[in-house]
Amino acid sequence: MPRAAKKAAPKKAPAKKAAAKKPASTEFKNFEPYKPKRGEKYMSEKQQEHFRSILKNWKSELMQEVDRTVSHMKDEAANFPDPADRATQEEEFSLELRTRDRERKLIKKIDSTLELIDQDDYGYCEACGIEIGIQRLEARPTATQCIDCKTLAEIKERQEMG
Ligand SMILES: [Zn+2]
Repeated sequence: MPRAAKKAAPKKAPAKKAAAKKPASTEFKNFEPYKPKRGEKYMSEKQQEHFRSILKNWKSELMQEVDRTVSHMKDEAANFPDPADRATQEEEFSLELRTRDRERKLIKKIDSTLELIDQDDYGYCEACGIEIGIQRLEARPTATQCIDCKTLAEIKERQEMG
């Protein structure tokens, strides 16, 4: 009976949907916080290495997510004869495409941050030049501004938009 077969399909969906809805890793927490030695120089080689490894692990996690999105979409593409089902699927796909786009941008940002480390420029505010700080960088490894400059930039941005 085709009806039964049709009913069986959506039952499987929730698990997959949950996986697809998992937000992009805009945060990366999978590391031990760095404890600098007393008197250790800011952005010592060891600190640079610490952030380099955070950024690299984060990047590979994101790239796996991109791969998963692509294969998920390939698996599910064009399997619904019902227009209503197709509409739902298209909505889901566009959501996934946006997620993928965000992930791609983040990967680019991570790459440019890794370059900053190579150039010994990592960890300093690009606007005022002060140290961004280990704690802030661990919370936002791709941060290029100190908290003050970032806050100011966000206020300006809001004023320009509003
Ligand atoms: Zn600053």
